[in-house]
Amino acid sequence: MRLLEEFDFIDSIQPAYYRQSSVVKGIGDDAAIVRYTNEDTIMTVDTMVENVHFSTKTTDAFHIGYRALAANISDIAAMGGKPVAYVVSIVIPDSWSSHALHEIYRGMDELASTYKMDLIGGDTVSGKQLVLSITVLGTVLKGQARYRSDALENDIIFVTGTIGDAACGLHILLDESETDYERYQYVINRHRMPTPRVSFINHCSSIERMALNDISDGISNEANEIAKASNKTLIIDYHQVPSHPLLADFTLEQCLDWKISGGEDFELIGTVPANDWATLQKIAKETNIKITAIGMVQDDEKKNGTVWLRDGNTLNKLAKSGYTHLRG
Ligand code: ADP
Ligand code: MG
Repeated sequence: MRLLEEFDFIDSIQPAYYRQSSVVKGIGDDAAIVRYTNEDTIMTVDTMVENVHFSTKTTDAFHIGYRALAANISDIAAMGGKPVAYVVSIVIPDSWSSHALHEIYRGMDELASTYKMDLIGGDTVSGKQLVLSITVLGTVLKGQARYRSDALENDIIFVTGTIGDAACGLHILLDESETDYERYQYVINRHRMPTPRVSFINHCSSIERMALNDISDGISNEANEIAKASNKTLIIDYHQVPSHPLLADFTLEQCLDWKISGGEDFELIGTVPANDWATLQKIAKETNIKITAIGMVQDDEKKNGTVWLRDGNTLNKLAKSGYTHLRG
C-alpha cells in the first residue's frame, strides 16, 4: 500500500459508532479520549514483526490480527481486568495489499466485538516489514488488580484449559509432511484463534487473593515469574498438567516441550488459597472453563524464587526456558 492511500485506509477502518460509552473521542483527532470515574486503568502493548512473530506461510492476515489482539487482551485478563479499547500502530510494506490490511483489521474486530471493545486510534507508516503493534486499554475495579507477586505458602497452583495446544497446532502447520488438517483442526484453531480468559477472571471477584499470569511463553516461564515476584517456591506436578487428547499422537518428548515451554495458549496460571479452591471450581463450572490444580506453593528459604517439576518421585528445577533434565 502506498502512503497516499493512507487517508482512504484510515477512513475505511473508522468505526461507524463506538460500543463503549466511556469513549469520548475515538479516531479522527490528534488523540483519543476515554473517561472513567471509579476504575483503575490497565494498559498493555505488544508488537509483532512479520517473519519473527508470525509468518504468512502459517497464518493468514485475518488470523494475524485476531491473534495479536488476543495476546493483548490476555494480558488484561491476567491483571484481572476487562478490555475496553485499543489503538493500532502498523508499519506497512508496499507489497501488502489494502485487502490484506483490511483482513488484519477484520480479524481484530471479530474478537473486539465479542468484548464490545472499540478501535480508537493508531498510526500508519510505511516500512520494509509488516509490524503490528497493539495497545489495549482495560479497566479493573479500584485496587482489585491481580498481581504475580501475591502467591503465599500452601496456595494451590492452577491453570485454565489445556496446555500445549497452540504449540501443537503450530507444529502441524509448519510440518510440510502433515496433511490431516481435519484431525488437528482443534489445536490449529487454538493457535490461530486463542480465547483470552476474560469472562472467567471477571467472575472471580469473590476470591480475595489470587496470584495471576497468562500463558504466553509457556508455564515454565510464567510459573517462574510468579515464583520470583512472590519470592516463593512453586512445585508443579508434571502429570497434573492437563493436555488435549490429540497430544497423545505425539512423542512424550514433544508433549513435554509443548506443555512446559510451548507458549501462546493464552490460558491463565495462578495460585489461590486452598480454602478458595472449591469456590474457584464453582466459578469455572459456571463460566464453562476447565481448571486444574497442578501443584502447591511452598515457602522454602533455600528454594524461593524457583519452580520445581515433580515427575513421580523425582523433583527437577524448572528453568524459565523450560529446560529440565527430563528432556534428555
Ligand atoms: P496525527 O498526525 O495527528 O497523529 P494521523 O493522521 O496519524 O494523526 O491519524 C488520524 C487519525 O486516525 C487519528 O485518530 C489516529 O489515531 C487514527 N489512525 C491512524 N492510523 C491508524 C491505524 N493504523 N489504525 C487505527 N487508527 C489509526
Ligand atoms: Mg495531530
